[in-house]
Amino acid sequence: MQLFEQALAVLQSGVMILDADYRVHFINQWLNKAFDDSEDLQGELLFAVYPELEGRRIHQAVEQALKTGLPSLLSPGLNRSPLPLYHGQGDRRERFAQSIRVQPMQSEGKRFCVIEVQDVSSMVRREALLNKQAEKLNQMALTDELTGIANRRHFNMMLEKELRRAELQGTALSLVFFDIDFFKQYNDHLGHQAGDKCLMAVADYLKNQLESYGYQVARYGGEEFCIILPGQDLEVAQHLAERCRKEIEALQLKHPSSNVAPVVTASFGVAAKSDKQSETQTGLILRADNALYRAKLAGRNQVVVAERQDQN
Ligand code: GH3
Ligand code: MG
Ligand code: MG
Repeated sequence: MQLFEQALAVLQSGVMILDADYRVHFINQWLNKAFDDSEDLQGELLFAVYPELEGRRIHQAVEQALKTGLPSLLSPGLNRSPLPLYHGQGDRRERFAQSIRVQPMQSEGKRFCVIEVQDVSSMVRREALLNKQAEKLNQMALTDELTGIANRRHFNMMLEKELRRAELQGTALSLVFFDIDFFKQYNDHLGHQAGDKCLMAVADYLKNQLESYGYQVARYGGEEFCIILPGQDLEVAQHLAERCRKEIEALQLKHPSSNVAPVVTASFGVAAKSDKQSETQTGLILRADNALYRAKLAGRNQVVVAERQDQN
């Protein structure tokens, strides 16, 4: 018996036994020390010493164990710190995250409950750190490194989501693809770094001017960008594409080796799903890309609109 008592005294987790009156029948050293005022709780009425626990989850769990014989597990996810338990000294003293099990027990015809407490603060901290890192990685996986706007993977996810929503709500959705004209020459003539700056300037324009309208912008790859316009039909998208075309030209980024203008320009393809028609993601991308191809063929620095599907 003495061996058990010694073992309970060195245990690095808490054990407490309450009787049917909520009186502390036994409390081990670790747990007694962790309670805030560190007075000996042995023989005390737990909820009289800590009236603030009355009606709380721990009180309910104890009541349930003593009255109905049902066990409970209080995990830190829902209830970070059910008991006023502290670790550390001075400034570093803090109420720690706990995992608590409340088990019913019978002895000589009397009901008791055993409360088992673990300090899980380092686990909770580690989990929070891992979550933060996972969120950061997720964010990185969806962001284009050079421009900071959504990358192609993110674009595909956004388009899929918006198409599903448009389908469900019977609303329109438009897609604008554009590609910088003679960008290979731009790089060849002014250097790759200048090329990078040009891509960043175009992306900044998109982010600052369009995202506030609820339009979603992304870098599809290389010098190709796209804009998703949820809820908008072909006319609105055509207008927006034309405005973008003009404003990219108005950025006045000198392009000495372009065959269409002395400044950086882009060619645009626009396609839409109307409110009545259904459209697949691949179908819509293909039609916008095809319209963009036709804008290139027709002389660049212009907007070409894909034919409406519902008029075919
Ligand atoms: P077009 O007018 O038909 O669009 O011709 P283009 O020269 O713009 O198109 P092409 O596809 O021949 O060349 C695209 C160039 O874009 C080639 C590639 O080096 C450049 N590029 C792709 N990604 C980047 C990047 O991240 N930074 C820089 N600086 N250049 C890039
Ligand atoms: Mg190009
Ligand atoms: Mg291209």
